[in-house]
Amino acid sequence: MKKYILAIDQGTTSSRAILFDELGQRVGQSQQEFSQHFPHDGWVEHDPEDIWTSTLSVCRAVLKDTGIDAKSVASIGITNQRETTILWDTETGQPIYNAIVWQDRRTSEFCHTLHQQGLSERVQEKTGLLIDPYFSATKIRWIIDNVEGAKEKAQQNKLAFGTVDSFLLWRLTKGRSHKTDATNAARTMAFNIHTQEWDQELIEAFGIEQVILPEVMDCSADFGVIDESWLGASIPVNGMAGDQQAALIGQACFKAGMVKSTYGTGCFLILNTGDKPLRSEHKLLTTVGYRLNGKVTYALEGSIFVAGAAIQWLRDGLNLFKDAKETQSLAQQALNGDSVYLVPAFTGLGAPYWDPDARGAMIGLTRDTSVADIVSAGLRSVCYQTKDLVGAMAQDGATFRSLRIDGGMVINDVMVQFLSDLLEVEVERPKITETTALGAAYLAGLQVGIFSSLEAISELWQAEKQFEPSMAQGTGEKLYAGWQEAVNRVRTRPE
Ligand code: ADP
Repeated sequence: MKKYILAIDQGTTSSRAILFDELGQRVGQSQQEFSQHFPHDGWVEHDPEDIWTSTLSVCRAVLKDTGIDAKSVASIGITNQRETTILWDTETGQPIYNAIVWQDRRTSEFCHTLHQQGLSERVQEKTGLLIDPYFSATKIRWIIDNVEGAKEKAQQNKLAFGTVDSFLLWRLTKGRSHKTDATNAARTMAFNIHTQEWDQELIEAFGIEQVILPEVMDCSADFGVIDESWLGASIPVNGMAGDQQAALIGQACFKAGMVKSTYGTGCFLILNTGDKPLRSEHKLLTTVGYRLNGKVTYALEGSIFVAGAAIQWLRDGLNLFKDAKETQSLAQQALNGDSVYLVPAFTGLGAPYWDPDARGAMIGLTRDTSVADIVSAGLRSVCYQTKDLVGAMAQDGATFRSLRIDGGMVINDVMVQFLSDLLEVEVERPKITETTALGAAYLAGLQVGIFSSLEAISELWQAEKQFEPSMAQGTGEKLYAGWQEAVNRVRTRPE
């Protein structure tokens, strides 16, 4: 019987494949890291072949390790690092440039020009986004402008654009399917989230050829069937969502007012706002939470570029420890942690500042500052940035009492407790923290009838641990004031 779902989670630093059974229980997992390329200050690239080969190899590995026959996999769900942009030649299947990663800031100047042309208002109104290098549109334009022959290829209909989901789908189906889903499309800055169509006016303004864009589907849909040669069976792809939206689904945040925050390389706080797009007046993003049966559920999102990446930097850049696990005990040893602030604006500041030219800083150092203090400041920076987002949401009129968390960082109890203390809300960590992959599996399973409804999925969600705020009154505010002061020092565009 076909009872398994294969979730592909193509992340920023690694590719994962996870097999789930019909109850949403994980039966196996395989993961592979791949190289990051930093050709210039603020540039971040991936080799699309690394993305592809690591994805294929983890899919094969999880089947092999579990001994599960590909023929008993009912469906595949794909979730992916969002915004990362790939353009490939549809005749050869070869990318014409490396994948430009979401963190990449090379189009900062072009964004500034678009802003000066007065496009900001139109972009926010139509796409829910703010003009920023983060989103795909200006990255697409950069590749078209900088790769010889790209424009001609596009005009001859021999070029395709995709975020990572579309690229993987195209490869998995051997070029038979060029599709994406509404959540990924919503991150390109070229997709109208109200009409659910590629926006002609914006496409023209960005100088993008419409023919290169994929067809936009619901998150649960028939995206195509993978070629039998890859895994030994022709398996349909039925689920697709950008990683943060997939996590929203994996966390079963299906009611307006429910919110999740994911702590991986970056941090992403997403609040379900129901069938109404809530326009932010405080530089948060309005986006598609998910689209099922043609019905859009909107979300408000705050994105921070550097969360776990700050821990990676402390480990690999400064060699302060060998394994991220050590940060928990180090943070417990911090004696002067309260006065040290690390602002990890390595690639600029995301929400709610949107300052691509800001760079990082560490302040409050004294002769007694220890490695433990710096590590503690690194962990806390993630919490402070979350507080920035929550504050902006509150100003937009959206508040909540409970936060569901996930991502690689949340195994760190010290960090999570500080988060609860600082935000003064209950923080819930689920039993399955691989919520991104789980969300992709749910979407695929919904389409093939393994899961009957969102309500049925909600019943599967279970908390592993709840954290309650416990810090003395006023302490959080004082600490946060110090953070705001530190951030103000690195901003290049203070209000
Ligand atoms: P992504 O999906 O973005 O690649 P993950 O969700 O796998 O990221 O999370 C990995 C991140 O979590 C890394 O940046 C790593 O530094 C951080 N991390 C892993 N374990 C811990 C820990 N115990 N404490 C703090 N951070 C951690």
